[in-house]
Amino acid sequence: MLTIGAHLSASKGYAHMAKEAMSIGGNTFQFFTRNPRGGKAKEIDEKDVNEFLEIATENHFGKILAHAPYTINVCSADEKTRRFGIDLMKDDLQRMEYTPGNMYNFHPGSHVGQGVEPGIKLIIEALNEILTKEQTTTVLLETMAGKGSEIGRSFEEIRRIIDGVALSEKLGVCLDTCHVYDAGYDIVNDLDGVLNHFDEVIGLDRLKAIHLNDSKNPFESHKDRHEKIGEGSIGLVALTRVINHPKLKDLPFFLETPNEIDGYAKEIELLKGKYTG
Ligand code: FE
Ligand code: FE
Ligand code: ZN
Repeated sequence: MLTIGAHLSASKGYAHMAKEAMSIGGNTFQFFTRNPRGGKAKEIDEKDVNEFLEIATENHFGKILAHAPYTINVCSADEKTRRFGIDLMKDDLQRMEYTPGNMYNFHPGSHVGQGVEPGIKLIIEALNEILTKEQTTTVLLETMAGKGSEIGRSFEEIRRIIDGVALSEKLGVCLDTCHVYDAGYDIVNDLDGVLNHFDEVIGLDRLKAIHLNDSKNPFESHKDRHEKIGEGSIGLVALTRVINHPKLKDLPFFLETPNEIDGYAKEIELLKGKYTG
């Protein structure tokens, strides 16, 4: 069965997101842990969480994916900015334990002129402070488009981060189809080659989730502008190959396409119709 969901608004809580996910044909969802600008997180309502857990179990939901605010930067040159990101991620991961065994995705960061090496070192330091033996959440490093000085634009950079982290068993990778295509991995003409390369460098066992997006920009553009499924440079044929690939078909797929809720419903229906896995 296809495990698929969309990025939903968390403002009405977990149970509401679960119901909304089902109303659009999904069996999982992604959400921001707080305002993407990094504001204060909403308090956990245990009644809401319990209702969510019931709905998710009854309806055989896949793992859900929390997304850290994209404005944090744990490899900033500025110590205060790094501290803000680290403390925020620690707080998010504590809250995630109310819904144990799920996944938390973050953007590795931007080195902003410090260089890739010092940037990677700072990300490793941050993760070594953030991760705990006790946590049941898997923290995912997202593959990035390589806009500006983003780290995570290559599988090698992600490998180097994982190698430096003591509790690396808590780490996984979220592959964003728009980002990797923009970064120069040709998932349109050579999906097998890209996945083999991923396997050699990182190991496919680390791959835990897919952000399924089309791209507004051409191959290797390093831009990161998502497009609706089938309306961008990747296209429906290539994205159909992604969801059906034997090495990917059992992973959860999350839409982050520029859509309102009815647009997501249409994309999920379209993709379910293309799924043969
Ligand atoms: Fe992201
Ligand atoms: Fe993404
Ligand atoms: Zn993106």
